[in-house]
Parts: sequence; C-alpha cells; structure tokens
Amino acid sequence: MPPEKPQWKELYSEVVTGGLCTGCSACVIVCPHDVLKYEDSDGIYKPYHLDIDGGKADCTHGQRGCTLCTRACPRFRDWESEIDIFMHERNRNDDEVSGIYRSLVLARTTDQSLNDIGQDGGVVSSILLYALENDIINGALISTLEGDGTSWKAVPTVATTKEEIIGGAGSRYTYSANPLAYFEAAEKGVDRLALVGMGCQASVPGALSSRKAGKTSKRFVLSIGLLCSKTFNDSIFDELFDATYNIKRESIKKMNIKGVFQIWCHDGSYHEVPLKEAHKWTREGCKSCPDFAAEHADISAGGIGKYSDWTLLVIRTQKGEEIVEDMLAKGLIETKPSTEDPEAVELMNKLSRISRKRWPESASVSVRRHIPVR
Ligand SMILES: Cc1cc2nc3c(=O)[nH]c(=O)nc-3n(C[C@H](O)[C@H](O)[C@H](O)COP(=O)(O)OP(=O)(O)OC[C@H]3O[C@@H](n4cnc5c(N)ncnc54)[C@H](O)[C@@H]3O)c2cc1C
Ligand code: SF4
Ligand code: SF4
Repeated sequence: MPPEKPQWKELYSEVVTGGLCTGCSACVIVCPHDVLKYEDSDGIYKPYHLDIDGGKADCTHGQRGCTLCTRACPRFRDWESEIDIFMHERNRNDDEVSGIYRSLVLARTTDQSLNDIGQDGGVVSSILLYALENDIINGALISTLEGDGTSWKAVPTVATTKEEIIGGAGSRYTYSANPLAYFEAAEKGVDRLALVGMGCQASVPGALSSRKAGKTSKRFVLSIGLLCSKTFNDSIFDELFDATYNIKRESIKKMNIKGVFQIWCHDGSYHEVPLKEAHKWTREGCKSCPDFAAEHADISAGGIGKYSDWTLLVIRTQKGEEIVEDMLAKGLIETKPSTEDPEAVELMNKLSRISRKRWPESASVSVRRHIPVR
C-alpha cells in the first residue's frame, strides 16, 4: 500500500466538520493553490474550499498529492504529540497539563506608557518591540481593532513598526485569526515573523515546522501565546452588554476577564458582567479546544493571578529564555519569581485540566492520553 497522503478531504471530514476546527486559519495561509478561503462573518470563523477543483469536501490538488493543509493544521490527528516532540524532543509527562516549559516568572515592562495600555504587564508588546529592534523579526502578526476602534471588531494585522505594535496592545475577547495577516506580510516582503495568538494559533508555527510545510514554516521565527479558555461571538456586544447592561460597544475603553467581565468605559464608569451570563456567546471553535496555556509557544503569557499589572510568563524554549534574559539584563522588563504568586500557577494548571477535558473522545488518542482523571 502506498503511504497515505491526507489532504483537504480528510481535513474537512476530521477537523472542519468533525468539531475540532478552531478557525486558526493555518490551512488557508499555507495552501499553494489558493483554493482555501476563510469565512469570518456571523461568528463562523472557518476555512472553506472554493466550489472548484474538487468542490467543498475534496480537492483535486490533494488527489494529486498536495498535503499542505493537513500539515499546517494544529488540530489534525496527533498534532500535540508531534509538535511536543519537535519542540522538546520528548512527549509531555502526565503532570505537564499546561505543556512543557523551562520556567515561570511574573513580568512587567519598565516602560510605564506601555504598561498603561498593555492588557496586563505590557510584556507581550515589549517582547515584540525587543525582537523588532534586535532584528530577530521584521514584523509581527498581531490583532488590532478595526478603524477607530469603536466597533470593537478585532482584525489580524502585520505590525512592522513600534507604533503598530503599540497600537495592537491590549486584549479583545472576540476572535482574531492573526495568521491571516501572513498574506499582507508576504506582500510587504516581511519574512521573519513573530506570531501572537491564543493556543490554537500559537501551535501553528510548531505544526508547520514539525511537518515541514515548506517556505511558510521558515517565515515564523517566534511564537508568543496568550493563555485562553474561550473567545466570544461578536454578537455579545449587542445581545448582552448593550441589551442587558446598556453598555454600548462604542462607549467601551478597555475590557478584561478576571473571574468576571470587567468593562471600563470612556466616561469613567466601570461595570462587571458575570461570566456565566456570557457562556451562551462562546464561539463554536472554542468548545473542543484542549489548550488553555498556549502549550506550543516560545513564551506564553497570561493575566492570571493577584498582581493585575504583571504578566505571568511561561518560558518554554531556549529562544524564549534567551529573549527574556536579555530583556531583563537590558532593563526592558522587571520580573519576580512565580513563587510569589503560587495560586496563579495552580489556577493555570486547573484551567488547563478543564480545557483538556473538552477534547472529544472520538479525536486523537495522543491528546486524550494526557487528560488528567482528577
Ligand atoms: C481571547 C483572549 C483570551 C484570554 N484569556 C485569558 C485567560 O483566561 N487567562 C489569562 O491569564 N490570560 C488570558 N488572556 C491573555 C491576557 O489577556 C493578555 O493577553 C496577556 O496577559 C498578555 O498581557 P500583556 O499586557 O503582556 O499583553 P499586551 O502587551 O497588551 O499585548 C497583547 C497582544 O495580544 C494581541 N491580541 C489581543 N487580542 C487578541 C485576540 N483576540 N486575538 C489574537 N491576539 C490578540 C495583541 O495584538 C497584542 O499583541 C487572553 C487573551 C485573549 C486575547
Ligand atoms: S484548525 Fe486551523 S488549520 Fe485546522 S482546519 Fe481549522 S482553520 Fe484550518
Ligand atoms: S479556547 Fe482560546 S485557544 Fe482554544 S480555540 Fe478558543 S480561542 Fe483558541
């Protein structure tokens, strides 16, 4: 029997319509025949095959041997184990529920203006600025807000300047498929990229590299992950925040999630919306996601814990470690040991356990093997 060459047909049945697709968009950016597109209207966030060259559920290029979309997908078959082994040369142990890492620290930028606009400690934006200024990258795929920001629509963007990186600081809790900005980066000749994104996206560079997905894989040189248990449909603004709490989207200045939805408005008012009221607007693509801690990033970042203007950093790779150490030596960030907030680490592991249990029994066994029974 010739070796199996899984292609769009398998991706479509096993991931896209199989309930595993997060909408990360990796399959779309890697397709060399331009037959995959991305639907992001009405809370869909899914790839689709143009109704040509094999139709919606198959691909004639795939029939002839193209496998790039399945190689890019961070939810296809044994993705987790394959990327773990590629990145760390081993499988994770059962107690490594938040993925394999080297160290944990609490960090914040020493740039007060960045700390003010960053979501937590402004560290993610600070790392991107460092990487840009030290020529590690020449651009970053990030999320920003459409237009003047009043619509709160999160859009993927390539940032190539300090101003553009700072312009993306802060968190939006609707989905932004940041890998999609790859097309804009390619057009601009930006070819050493950092990718910022939640776990579903932070695994994209690892998936591309571990399965040798051609030139696209070589362009991602840094993956910065954001801790994440879910994103929400855009309709939450009108149907919950406005309808129940009379908070108009254009009046919102900043949002955060710390046990509740925290909402600060331009008029100085502050509101809290219980998370349980928001569950109904959970995005479909998040419902099977097993990855809270962005387990395949070089560095993962979260706002978990008791210090609201600090970021918890999960440093996973040698590259991530070198960046954090050099930033510290240059005085760009300050850190304190994670042992100063052990509850933050416990909470990360607890939320990782909860997310892992969402992975369906019908899907890859290698992920299920590491689902804790406790
Ligand atoms: C959808 C979402 C859910 C999250 N859930 C949790 C959680 O449950 N627990 C937790 O501890 N932390 C969570 N985080 C991470 C947290 O909000 C901060 O992003 C993190 O602590 C880094 O803070 P910072 O100040 O260092 O980042 P900043 O310097 O403010 O940089 C944030 C970066 O995130 C990017 N970004 C913002 N919104 C999005 C988006 N929707 N999609 C993709 N990229 C985006 C920005 O472009 C920017 O580059 C979540 C983040 C997001 C986006
Ligand atoms: S998870 Fe990402 S790569 Fe996989 S099918 Fe969905 S959008 Fe494509
Ligand atoms: S829960 Fe977060 S990491 Fe998982 S699919 Fe949703 S957005 Fe991505």
